[in-house]
Amino acid sequence: MVNFQLDEMQEMLKELAREFALEEIRPKAEHWDATSTYPKETILAAHEMGLLNLHIPEAYGGPGLGSMEEVLVNEELAWGDPGFATAAYATALACAPIITGATDAQKEVWLRKVAEEGALASYAVTEPGAGSDVAACKTSAVRDGDDYIINGSKMWITGAGHADFFFVLAKTDMDAGYRGMSGFIVEKDAAGFSLGKKESNMGQRCSDTRSINFDDVRVPAEHLIGGSESGGWMNAMKAFDVSRPNIAAHATGLARASYEHALQYSGERKTFGKHLHQHQAIQFMLADMKTKIEASRMLTWKSAAESDAGIRNTESAAHAKRFAADTAMEVSTDAVQVYGGYGYSEEYPVARLMRAAKVMQIYEGSSQVQRMIIGREITKDL
Ligand SMILES: Cc1cc2nc3c(=O)[nH]c(=O)nc-3n(C[C@H](O)[C@H](O)[C@H](O)COP(=O)(O)OP(=O)(O)OC[C@H]3O[C@@H](n4cnc5c(N)ncnc54)[C@H](O)[C@@H]3O)c2cc1C
Repeated sequence: MVNFQLDEMQEMLKELAREFALEEIRPKAEHWDATSTYPKETILAAHEMGLLNLHIPEAYGGPGLGSMEEVLVNEELAWGDPGFATAAYATALACAPIITGATDAQKEVWLRKVAEEGALASYAVTEPGAGSDVAACKTSAVRDGDDYIINGSKMWITGAGHADFFFVLAKTDMDAGYRGMSGFIVEKDAAGFSLGKKESNMGQRCSDTRSINFDDVRVPAEHLIGGSESGGWMNAMKAFDVSRPNIAAHATGLARASYEHALQYSGERKTFGKHLHQHQAIQFMLADMKTKIEASRMLTWKSAAESDAGIRNTESAAHAKRFAADTAMEVSTDAVQVYGGYGYSEEYPVARLMRAAKVMQIYEGSSQVQRMIIGREITKDL
């Protein structure tokens, strides 16, 4: 039987996240975006409240909650502000391959650092010449005694300017394609490691995105995730089965915020003697926005529920991420349309939401990449 009712604990967690979004995120969101301010204090406060890094197991000091709880919280945080939600989720994304592939001793160090000390982390896979095509990465890690020496650079790394450590995907065998990739932990103060400048992005400007560079960075062999070479690719990709339902939840929260602003405005603004929502063309637009939001949430919940039930959710995560990201773009664009000229002004929140939506169709695997994954999944047995 399918039950769409949340249990008492899930309702309480969702409510807690909503209150946090209302009181701690929304009042500051416009300022963060306008001044490109990284919301570090509020991220740490959310972590303290038990709203971040929910999937870190209890054995390593985390809350040990499921994917369903995580998506409920992430929809609310992004409803508060999508830039905040992205910035705050970076650490959970970096922890995903550690949870999946690290040794117990590695989990004890790195997951506990996040859960108990509030450490921040970033997931560093994309390179200047390799985004959708991850296997084209050129960053290398060469064994030297008890260490590895890493050379190369990564691009578009969320949270990089504030991260205490990084999950880094590098090639330990340059000739073996994706099979030659391994995951490493690199600390921010490692000699030879440097940060690029903060990118000036279209939206989500409070989130810190930048390149990172490795110039003969020496890391101890204990920092090789899982303790053996070559599992890096699978680990980094499995992280997406965890993260994509959460990005879909962010997109749903963004779309819901846009829709709510548009609905409210449609009851305030009059044209031709009627409120905007009394014009059927506007009412249909609002109806379509709501349908897409409901569908996004259902796809997101289904993928999260599959993950919690131990069912491989690669396909459902791709459906949810693709549909919800496209919905965020469409609904936020329609919200601007409902506001008319005022929607084009940064005086109103819908312009910021529309700018924030675009990247959701690009990062964590673009909408095209999600279709490639779905296509591969549905045709694999033909
Ligand atoms: C704000 C922001 C934050 C990010 N955060 C992180 C992060 O924390 N960590 C990290 O590792 N990366 C991060 N990324 C990188 C992001 O995941 C990549 O930008 C994304 O995967 C796309 O790669 P690309 O930019 O190199 O585009 P490309 O791979 O060059 O693709 C360009 C366009 O072509 C399309 N395309 C590519 N190949 C195909 C194909 N075979 N068929 C059809 N269409 C195709 C793509 O969908 C895209 O529209 C971030 C990016 C941004 C913008």
